[in-house]
Amino acid sequence: MSPENLRRYLEFYQDLGIKNVYRRSAGLRPASAAVAEEAVPQPAAPVPMPNQPPVQLPPMAPQGETLVQIEQDLGDCRRCRLCEGRNKIVFGVGNPQSPLVFVGEGPGADEDEQGIPFVGRAGQLLTQMIEGTAKKEGIPLLRDQIYICNVVKCRPPGNRTPEPDEMEICGQFLYRQLQAIRPKAICALGGTAARALTGHKEGVTKMRGRWFKWQDIPVMVTYHPSYLLRPYNQDAKREAWEDLKKVLHFVYD
Ligand code: URA
Repeated sequence: MSPENLRRYLEFYQDLGIKNVYRRSAGLRPASAAVAEEAVPQPAAPVPMPNQPPVQLPPMAPQGETLVQIEQDLGDCRRCRLCEGRNKIVFGVGNPQSPLVFVGEGPGADEDEQGIPFVGRAGQLLTQMIEGTAKKEGIPLLRDQIYICNVVKCRPPGNRTPEPDEMEICGQFLYRQLQAIRPKAICALGGTAARALTGHKEGVTKMRGRWFKWQDIPVMVTYHPSYLLRPYNQDAKREAWEDLKKVLHFVYD
């Protein structure tokens, strides 16, 4: 591949936020995945290392691909270790033209069994939060009308937090989903989703209630519903409702 083509490939994937896998395959040092509103880092110039084998990059993601095509490409995915313990891949659910997308961390036991995101206790709370807040705010909205997915599509063993390499590999599919939907706003549920979408490393308590960006799409960070299920987190519950109100008004007013 010519240096010019290599540069174009890297720029394209960098735009999608999928830098490190491709930078590594090109023999470059990983760069931050951040595409956030604040402190956007300047990417290092991609200078190929001497004596590297020819770069093996996958074909560019076609412009205008659909969620169905992305799911087909995901297939019976074996790209990372999470495939070993999963029952079902949890790709995402809802309206492919939704102006609002919720992104969680990864499937739990119920989701792994059913292949649908947010169907367990946390999911029921999320549904109540979305539909209850919308109703109170005079916005006619049901869960089915929006799109919900996760950073990783397979359940991490024992519900552990996904590892950085798992997030990076599966994150390609999240980014492609978001690219296909191009919502008006994204709501990141919890620290893992917030980090995957914004590249910021702060804790969720510092990030919640604030707008960031994934590419040019506004991202609101809020608490993960599992965190809100803990009985001593009443303040967080109130805050999450406030965050949700902000997103709903931004998208639907
Ligand atoms: N937690 C998540 O982050 N995602 C789900 O789908 C369920 C629980």
